[in-house]
Parts: sequence; structure tokens; C-alpha cells
Amino acid sequence: MFGRRVDYLRLSITDRCNLRCVYCMPPEGVPLKPAGEILTYGEFLRCVRAAVSLGIRKVRVTGGEPLVRRGVVGFIRRLARIPGVEDLGMTTNGIGLSEAAEPLRQAGLGRINISLDTIRSERYAEITRRDRLPDVLSGIDAALRAGLRPVKINVVLLHGLHPGEVDDFLAMAREKPLEIRFIERMPMGCLPTEGYVSADRIRDRILSLPGCRRVESGVSSVAVTYEVPGFAGTLGIISPITRKFCSDCNRLRISADGRLRNCLFSRETIDLRPALRGGGGEAEVAGLFLRAVATKPDGHDLCAGGSSPEPMSRIGG
Ligand code: SAM
Ligand code: SF4
Repeated sequence: MFGRRVDYLRLSITDRCNLRCVYCMPPEGVPLKPAGEILTYGEFLRCVRAAVSLGIRKVRVTGGEPLVRRGVVGFIRRLARIPGVEDLGMTTNGIGLSEAAEPLRQAGLGRINISLDTIRSERYAEITRRDRLPDVLSGIDAALRAGLRPVKINVVLLHGLHPGEVDDFLAMAREKPLEIRFIERMPMGCLPTEGYVSADRIRDRILSLPGCRRVESGVSSVAVTYEVPGFAGTLGIISPITRKFCSDCNRLRISADGRLRNCLFSRETIDLRPALRGGGGEAEVAGLFLRAVATKPDGHDLCAGGSSPEPMSRIGG
């Protein structure tokens, strides 16, 4: 299907989270949807079956924090069994992963992205408003031990990211087979829209590493990736602002309350719940996916001052 080869679906399975990252939520959290408005696992599975019938091949489970939703391992097992789901991943803050990594891999999870913006405890507590860094670090090791691959670390570039902190991550990539990606913060959530940190400075730092070389990545890869001799892992840059990648965007998103989004920055969404809860079959749900793809915008307007209408925790990043 899909002129632009839309083959990737992200599911935000909960709007809850055990952290309060400053760029994502206010200290008190965001208002949560009533439980009855959140899609059941069965409803998410029906959406995925419909999407796969149209050519979706990659599915990523996110949130809020996906590991806080009860039954997530069983959900992954059921997702992994859907014929046509070829690539199954999760984005998590890593808390709880030290126990969950092995069961998740056994259930059929392939890849995992772990969000971590600093490896200095005080800074971590400032950014996430919780003191949980050791849990995340042990979660990363557990993911590697369990054989989840690739294990990617997403580092959102904040104001004041210290050059020393960048070097902490470079050291991590030297020691461990991780793909560490530095991401420009997008103007959504709780921080002002101005004042993002451009990734160019980090790029220069990476390029200064002896023997550093850019690796060719897939057409719809959003990261520019670099290999460095002697490093067990790789380094990457994701710049949605300074190097927009909309024309390669292959994604659709379903929010925890069942709204289908064809762009992270869409104001318009398609509510899947009436079809899912009103006895609509797979064909009806598939029709809604086709509508979302037909109206997928050419690109976002962030540089013209646009911003996302909703917090990332509800959309799923
Ligand atoms: N709780 C999980 C986590 O943090 O990985 C999954 C959901 S979180 C919304 C998904 C991703 O969105 C995280 O990597 C987070 O860093 C990123 N994110 C949240 N707000 C952001 C923003 N304003 N700009 C860029 N990335 C953001
Ligand atoms: Fe939670 Fe992820 Fe948002 Fe941080 S970025 S508050 S971990 S949903």
C-alpha cells in the first residue's frame, strides 16, 4: 500500500509514567485518561492485525512508560505471534527492565530503545525528577544480557548538556555494544518552544574522534550513525529540527486512548474507538488506517513555530 511506504506503527499503550521528565511533563504529571478510555490489549491487537493487512511490518510499543502497564509481557507475546509483524520493538525509560528484559525477549521482543539523558545521578534526578538512575543502568545491562538487539540509548539534548556528559556517553559506547543517539529536543511538552540545543556541536565532537566514519543507514532511518574504531557501540544524531526527515517518514501512531495520528505534530487525529467498540471489523479499522495515510502531511512546521498539541507521554514519542 501507501505511496510513502508507511510500514511502521507505534503504539502508546499507557499515558502513565513513573518519571516526570522536565521536557515531557509538569512535576505533578499530566491529567490521565480514565481507564475505560484506554485501549485494551485486545483492541490494540485488532488494530495491529488491520495495519498488517495493509503492509505495516514494524511495530513499536511505547507510552507513557510501557513497562508500568500490567500484562505487557503477555501483550508482547501476542503481538509477536501476529503473522506479518517482522520487527517488534519497545521504547522505555528502562526502569523495571532489569527484571523484564529476559521475559520480554522470550516473549518475542526484538529491539529496545532506552531513554537516558545523562549518566550523572544528580543531573538525572533534576531531569526526571526521580532518583532512579541505578535502575536504568542495570536495565541497560539486563537488555544486553538478554540478547535484545539492537539496544539503543536515546539522549535528548537539553539546555546545558555539559560537554563532560557527552563524553560520558562516548565512553559508554566505547565499552558496550549500544547505539547511542543524541536527539534534538522538540518543542512540545513543558519547556518553552525556543531554546532547543542543536545537535551540530555533538556532531563535531563525534567527528573529532580518531577514525570516526559515517555508516550508511536505511532509507527511513531517522538517525545519522557513526562508527569509531575500538568502540563496541555506535553513535548517532537525530535532528528533527535542523535536518528535517519528514519526506522519509514511514510512521503512524496510535495513542493510548485509541487515536490514530499520521504525524507527531498532527492536530487532527482519527478516533479508532468507535470502530473498535462498535462492532467494526478489521476492514473498517483498515479503512481508517488508509484515511490516515492518505492525509499524511508532507512535513511538519516546527521551524515556523509550530508545536505539538499534546504531551509526548500521551502520543508516545
Ligand atoms: N517513557 C518512555 C521513554 O521515556 O522512553 C517512552 C515514551 S517517551 C514519550 C518516548 C521518547 O520521547 C523518549 O525517548 C523521550 O526522551 C522522548 N521525548 C519526550 N519529550 C520529548 C521532546 N520534547 N523532544 C524530544 N523527545 C522527547
Ligand atoms: Fe515518562 Fe518517557 Fe515522558 Fe520521561 S519522556 S516523563 S519517561 S513518558
